Amino acid sequence: MQRVLIVEDSKVVQQVLRHLTAQYLDVAVDFAWSLAECKTYIEQYTYTLALVDLTLPDAPSGEVAKYTLSKKIPTVVLTSKIDEYKRQQMLELGVIDYVIKDNRDSYHYAIKLVAQLLRNEGCKALVADDSVLSRSIMKQMLEKQLFKVSAASDGLHALEIIKNDPEIKLLLTDYAMPSMDGFELVKAVRNFRGRDDLAIIGLSGAGKSGLSVRFIKYGANDFLNKPFMNEEFHCRILQTMEQLALITDIKESAAKDHLTGLYNRRYFYQFAERLLNDKTKQNSLALLDIDFFKKINDTFGHEAGDQALKQVANLLKNSFSPYTVARVGGEEFAIILTELDINQAYELLDAFRSRLANYDFVINNQAHKITVSIGVAHFFDVTLTEAMRLADEALYQAKNNNRDCIVLQKK
Ligand code: GH3
Ligand code: MG
Ligand code: MG
Repeated sequence: MQRVLIVEDSKVVQQVLRHLTAQYLDVAVDFAWSLAECKTYIEQYTYTLALVDLTLPDAPSGEVAKYTLSKKIPTVVLTSKIDEYKRQQMLELGVIDYVIKDNRDSYHYAIKLVAQLLRNEGCKALVADDSVLSRSIMKQMLEKQLFKVSAASDGLHALEIIKNDPEIKLLLTDYAMPSMDGFELVKAVRNFRGRDDLAIIGLSGAGKSGLSVRFIKYGANDFLNKPFMNEEFHCRILQTMEQLALITDIKESAAKDHLTGLYNRRYFYQFAERLLNDKTKQNSLALLDIDFFKKINDTFGHEAGDQALKQVANLLKNSFSPYTVARVGGEEFAIILTELDINQAYELLDAFRSRLANYDFVINNQAHKITVSIGVAHFFDVTLTEAMRLADEALYQAKNNNRDCIVLQKK
């Protein structure tokens, strides 16, 4: 479980940070006023990250950052002024980055930086560079940003690593490398990993600014010209990774139903259509409809009905985690059960039906029973429309058979 410690002695600033953390961070956050309080927290908890003010009444010259770093806590610093001496001092100390507190937007930047660093934790990155020195410098810099970093000394090796590890989310590649140069590497990687799925930053040597543009044209997300400043490196990486995360979030929410968090009807149809293109596999499509749901709304109110829908959705998520479950109508759900024979599909669904019928739902603080009727189509080689029609007919029969039961249709 990730946890963040913020040390800041100004009441106003702390208040602003509290609002921003509530908005952007989904983890536990503790606020300390002083170095003394910071020490007490660190004795009590393990922190993923610290955001600390450089001047505190009991720690006037950065002692708090020295302390958090001595406890191996990755640290971002808030400072009111910065000069070259101070900047060097902080970088030597090993802070990840510093944020100058000169306007409201600085706090925004600081918290978004923290949010991105938390997302980076454990996220995999790869550095491809034939120079031992720059490889090790970049590896260190990325590790400071909490990435899990591997390295390759040439393009072919880098390509091999990416092919074998779909979890790699960031590639930093030099241009001039033996066996395969940076452009060839970017082109090859883009054949199987899109820009919204793997971020690539191209690096080019001094005086070769034309290379940067070509990196972008071949599919890199951004570029860096060598030599670069520490801060420039951090900003570029953070911004690129933030964009990637935003796109992932947008895609996620476009595919999901807001109330239940299950996939929505539109996504389900797209997904099922693609799946059913493979005519060699046997699949089952189950449609589940809550029995007498209208009564729940009429008796307890619409809000309580929503709560019941969420509870049913959670049971579905837990019971069918390997499969794709969607909310395809108000109180109607669909599941595609792949590569199961008809008996296996039936057993799985019947176990769920009975689990649900025995489950104590809590609606407006009262226990309540809910049942579902299930129509299942089991098929080889049919279109989605045909599969839906079969499952719908089966569901209609299940409703006519007194509900709380399953009807199968085979084709
Ligand atoms: P049956 O057993 O025949 O399926 O009866 P039923 O009452 O479940 O079916 P009916 O189709 O008559 O009613 C479905 C109800 O579901 C009507 C609608 O108001 C309610 N509903 C649909 N979407 C939502 C929703 O998002 N929230 C809530 N609270 N109710 C919803
Ligand atoms: Mg219903
Ligand atoms: Mg219905």
